Amino acid sequence: MKFDTKVVRAGIYPDPSTGAIVPPIYQSATYVLEEVGKDKGYDYTRASNPTRTILENNLATLDGGKYGICFSSGMAAVDSIMKILKAGDHVICSDDVYGGVSRMYNNLMVNYDISFSYVNSSNPQEVEDAILDNTKLIWIETPTNPLLKVTDLDRVGKIAKKHDILYGVDSTFSTPALLRPLEFGADIAMHSTTKYLSGHNQIIGGVLITNDDSLNEKFKFIQKSVGAVPSPFDCWLTLLGIKTLSVRMQRHCENAQAIAQFLEDHHQVEKVTYPGLPSHPQYDIARTQMEGYSGMISLELKGGIPAGISLMNSLKLCSLAESLGAVETMITHPATMTHADVPKEERLARGLSDGLVRLSVGIEDKRDIIADLDQALK
Ligand code: PLP
Repeated sequence: MKFDTKVVRAGIYPDPSTGAIVPPIYQSATYVLEEVGKDKGYDYTRASNPTRTILENNLATLDGGKYGICFSSGMAAVDSIMKILKAGDHVICSDDVYGGVSRMYNNLMVNYDISFSYVNSSNPQEVEDAILDNTKLIWIETPTNPLLKVTDLDRVGKIAKKHDILYGVDSTFSTPALLRPLEFGADIAMHSTTKYLSGHNQIIGGVLITNDDSLNEKFKFIQKSVGAVPSPFDCWLTLLGIKTLSVRMQRHCENAQAIAQFLEDHHQVEKVTYPGLPSHPQYDIARTQMEGYSGMISLELKGGIPAGISLMNSLKLCSLAESLGAVETMITHPATMTHADVPKEERLARGLSDGLVRLSVGIEDKRDIIADLDQALK
C-alpha cells in the first residue's frame, strides 16, 4: 500500500461480527474468559483493548514500524521512555524541546538521579560532544516547538549507533505523512496524537513506535503496569481523525507556506521562521528529510511584546489557544502560555524571546487566514 492508502486502511478491517466499516468502540473494562486460562486475546482494558489495538497497528504501519504503543497523552509516552532508564543514567536532549518535556526532566526525573544535557541538535557535533560514559538516551525533537529547529536525523542516528545509545525522536510536528524517523535510524518515534494525527482538537493522546522487539515488550509492560492508557472512545476518535491525515497535511503545508511568505514580506514583521522558507537555517536538511514542512510558523514582530499582544488580541478568525496541529488556525504566545514554566533566563538563552508568537496554521481557506492576520497587523 502507498502511504495515503495506509492512512485510510492499514490495520482496519470490517468488524467480523457485523461488517461495520468503522471499527466499534469496545467500551469494556474486562472480557469474559471461555474457560480458565482461555481468553480471546483480551482480559483487561488497561493491558489491551480491541479499539486501541486497531489504532496501535494503524499508527505503527504509518511510521514504518512493527509496534505501536498508545498512551493517554504525549507526555505519558515521553514518561514511559524515562521508565526504561535507571538512576545514574544521562540523557542528551534537543535544547528547544517542548516545554512540558524539559519541565518533566528538570523537575521530576532529576529526583530519580537521571541527568540531562541540552544541546543544539541542529549541529550534530554538539550531540556527539555531549556524550558521557553513562549516556543512555538521545532525545531529539524535529522541528522543535516553538523555534522550529530541524535536526539531521540521519547524522544523529549514526552517532547514536556508533556509541550504542538509544535514539528517540519526537516527530509530533511532522507526522508520518512528512517524516518517518525510524527510516533515519531512530529506535523510537514518538507523537503527541493530540496534534495533527487526531487533528481536530478532540482528544489528548500519545504513541511510541518501534521496530525493536525488546523495546516493545518494555513499553507494553510499562503501559500495562502504569495504566496511562487512552480510553476506547479516544482511540476511536483518533482513528477517525487519522483517516484524513494525508489530505489535511497537504492543506496545512500549502496554507503555511503561503502565510509564511506573506509574513516574511510584511513590513511589521521582524523575523519569520518556517522550515519551508529558504531563509530557515536548516532549510536544506528539511528539504531532504521531510516531504513537506507542516503547518507551524514562528514570528517576531517589530514592536516586541506590546505588538505581539496587540496582534493576538486583534485576531478574529485565528484562535488564541495553547494547542497546535488541528484544523482551526491557532496562535500562541510561548512566553506566557506553552513555555510559561521554563525560567525566563533559560527561555531567553534558548532564543525564546518575549515577543515570539507561534502560529499553527489550520486548513481554512488561506485567503481568510491572511486577511485576518493582515487586519490584526494593521
Ligand atoms: N511533544 C510536542 C512537540 C508537543 O508539542 C507536545 C504538546 O504540545 C507534547 C509533546 C506533549 O503532548 P500532550 O500535550 O499530548 O501530552
